[in-house]
Amino acid sequence: MNKESANSLTMRIVIGMIAGILLGLMFQAILPKDGDLIIPLGFVDFYVKGFFIDGLFEIGGQIFITSLKMLVVPLVFVSLVCGTCSLTDTSKIGSIGGRAISLYLLTTAIAISIAILAGILIAPGTGVNMAADITFSASEAPTLTEVIIGMFPSNPFDAFAKGNMLQVIVFALLFGIAVALAGDAGERIAKTFDDLNEIIMRLVIILMNLAPYGVFCLMTTLFSELDPSAFANLAVYFFTVLGVLLLHALVTYPVILKLLTGLNPVTFIKKMRTTAMFAFSTASSNATIPSTLNTTTKKLGVGNSIASFTVPMGATINMDGTAIMQGVATVFIAQVFNVDLTITDFLMVIVTATLASIGTAGVPGVGLIMLAMVLAQVGLPVEGIGLIIGVDRLLDMVRTAVNVTGDSMVTVIVGKAEGELNTDVFNSTDDTSDDRIDFHHLKDK
Ligand code: ASP
Repeated sequence: MNKESANSLTMRIVIGMIAGILLGLMFQAILPKDGDLIIPLGFVDFYVKGFFIDGLFEIGGQIFITSLKMLVVPLVFVSLVCGTCSLTDTSKIGSIGGRAISLYLLTTAIAISIAILAGILIAPGTGVNMAADITFSASEAPTLTEVIIGMFPSNPFDAFAKGNMLQVIVFALLFGIAVALAGDAGERIAKTFDDLNEIIMRLVIILMNLAPYGVFCLMTTLFSELDPSAFANLAVYFFTVLGVLLLHALVTYPVILKLLTGLNPVTFIKKMRTTAMFAFSTASSNATIPSTLNTTTKKLGVGNSIASFTVPMGATINMDGTAIMQGVATVFIAQVFNVDLTITDFLMVIVTATLASIGTAGVPGVGLIMLAMVLAQVGLPVEGIGLIIGVDRLLDMVRTAVNVTGDSMVTVIVGKAEGELNTDVFNSTDDTSDDRIDFHHLKDK
């Protein structure tokens, strides 16, 4: 496939996204609000809301997200088994896991520290006087012991059915090691898994080609429902979070990547475009796993034995963007409620937010649930979440894009450190990957 067509998928997703946003805003403008009608209610309700927004676009968007999620468990399992049994030395798993987890924790801690600092300096909560009208109850942050024990499945099928990613990862690793050690039988199974992997990756590519339509539907529904008045009240909070998210993605990551690998960060950021758009439109790191795996292996040149392990792990435990929202939100809520937080409180926020992100799946809105744990930990009113919920969906989309960029960066660093990075693929400007479905061999039959 040539460069033009790879770019055209990215281009088509951008067009789908912009068209969806515009159409959604148009619906928003003509839909009745508080009796202020532009078009008679019956017509608008029936055709626009009933048929298009809650009908056609909702169906299109949801089918797209569901199909992405459908691929996640089989894809992670199969590619991780392939990755593990192709490792010449299975004892390397310890060093890959160790490096990945340390980097994930380190980048999250950096992210939340920058966010807290920005929150203190910009003080988005001073002068905001809003009544919290939504009650939110916090669940307890899991302890480290619970997280570790919870990684081991007592029933792998239950883990598959529930999509418990850490448990799927552990089972796949053990299964892959056993395949590698099982001699002839293992070789036969390894070949079958390689074939399965090839087929599932084809399915990923088919779905990626439908992304422009899915993204169009998702954006239309979302933007027809966003409440613009929430943004006016929360503009400073919104832009503080957004600013730190961009800073982290465009400054922190490039610096870390350059320092630890010497690779060109501009190439990295450019090649992340399509995946970042997937994350933005689905607001789910988990649903984005197929695209992240495709980008890290085919465009960034990381070996499947590394990426199949670090990508799903990152989608579950690494949420730098989410941590940024939590850092700013905690400071914001403390300012609104006039609570002075001490240095110990801030340290507590960093530790809780980092730990809470482990074991919480990357799905839309999970950041707010984790925020409830963080607030409860430092004695801030959990109802404070009611203040920011109105603008959270849009921030969720941006922070998910940051989350997957972080997962991919760590994957590249670990790949390089383990000697599993093809620098020619990384540096190639021909952004080919195979993003497009190749129907030729079907025609040839
Ligand atoms: N939606 C985010 C993710 O999937 C998590 C969150 O911040 O709510 O990565």
